[in-house]
Amino acid sequence: MKIGTYFGFEAAHVLPHHPGKCSRPHGHSYRLEVVVEGPLQQGGPAAGMVMDFGDLKEIVRRSVIDQLDHSDLNATISNPTAEEIAAWIWGRLEPALPSLQRVVLWETASAYAAIER
Ligand SMILES: [Zn+2]
Repeated sequence: MKIGTYFGFEAAHVLPHHPGKCSRPHGHSYRLEVVVEGPLQQGGPAAGMVMDFGDLKEIVRRSVIDQLDHSDLNATISNPTAEEIAAWIWGRLEPALPSLQRVVLWETASAYAAIER
């Protein structure tokens, strides 16, 4: 079974190779979807769950949101396209979430980059 969570964060970026307006400093209200997949746990405090939503949210917040929210993305990722940011997020989450299945990063209301296992 799959479970997921959403986060929003605000950040600024510049796309240095872009020939158009994205080469100027600007910001987005990003929306991040994180999905994990696994069997339901059979016992313990997370019985009947893939994992506790609270644990999932804490991992995403600590690994990704705390660093990116209200930041200059170019200080973290040299060419912060939606695709490169999604790949960076995947790399940050995978060590803490071995059951990571999908990362979707919405840069605008109508444009996203996605990575799936
Ligand atoms: Zn942009």
